[in-house]
Amino acid sequence: MNPFSYVRVQNQSDAIAASVPGTKFIGGGTNLLDLMKGDIEQPHRLIDINRLPLEKVEAISTGVRVGALARNSDVAYNQLIRDRYPLLSQAFLSGASPQLRNMATVGGNLMQRTRCYYFYDTALPCNKRQPGSGCAAIQGYNRIHAILGASDQCIATHPSDMCVAMLALDATVRVSGAKGERQIPIAEFHRLPGDTPQIDTVLQPGELITAVDLPNSPDVKHSHYLKVRDRASYAFALVSVAVGLDIDNGGMIRAARVALGGVAHKPWLAVEAEKILVGAKANEQTFRAAADATVREAKPQKHNKFKVEMARRAIVRSLTIATGGVS
Ligand code: SF4
Repeated sequence: MNPFSYVRVQNQSDAIAASVPGTKFIGGGTNLLDLMKGDIEQPHRLIDINRLPLEKVEAISTGVRVGALARNSDVAYNQLIRDRYPLLSQAFLSGASPQLRNMATVGGNLMQRTRCYYFYDTALPCNKRQPGSGCAAIQGYNRIHAILGASDQCIATHPSDMCVAMLALDATVRVSGAKGERQIPIAEFHRLPGDTPQIDTVLQPGELITAVDLPNSPDVKHSHYLKVRDRASYAFALVSVAVGLDIDNGGMIRAARVALGGVAHKPWLAVEAEKILVGAKANEQTFRAAADATVREAKPQKHNKFKVEMARRAIVRSLTIATGGVS
């Protein structure tokens, strides 16, 4: 680990002022400290933001605001979240372990980095860790890697459960920086790798995530988060699916959101599935058509062809569970 200094800030403006190139904000540190110990991240200064008043989960006129420093466990068990966004609670509780969820923050969850084995192995080439060095995963063991949206520079996947549920909920990320505040739809927050896989998000240098806003939405009446993984707990998703549907009394789908995890460099919005679902009957035939459309453009690697069929089945199953009693 490289030598670094540490500063604990008391307010947002001090945090932003302290954020110069080579520094990192630290909240729970559940990913960042691992990355530092492995010399993958080498900040010269950590800016501890835990004293900032950003831990609340509160109702606002447009929905619910979740502070960037709210701990994953606190959000998962918050009554507002359980009542109004149960799939988000399900997603949180399917991630990591209780100890990690007690430390990890919402802002840190948005910023967590891929779990590609080669990203963590500094003896091997990795364009995300060292731009231009190559990608060890493409010719290597790529069972956990992307089947959608990858590039010839990087085939990593995004590891978050929370972000997949938030994408299905059409959340907005609120950030603050030297140029003021801005709001970023979560669908635009994370990036596909393209030629610059070292850049995970659209955050600008020095910008601080302050909250995530969850909109009021009728789509959550029929919702579900399904995670498929190698172990029953403490494992990242091979494939995950978050769905939210609004269905009329006749069983017709009025609105639909389908998001996938474990399949791409960013949480993947299944736009083609949504087109098929909206205006159709909520039944198995519709769900299968939506699943087929989602994986039609899939480009699996040598060791992860199973993910295509897994994603297809997970979509159908998640939609079926979400509409229990309707289909
Ligand atoms: Fe690095 Fe991405 Fe290749 Fe993994 S898939 S080795 S993170 S460039």
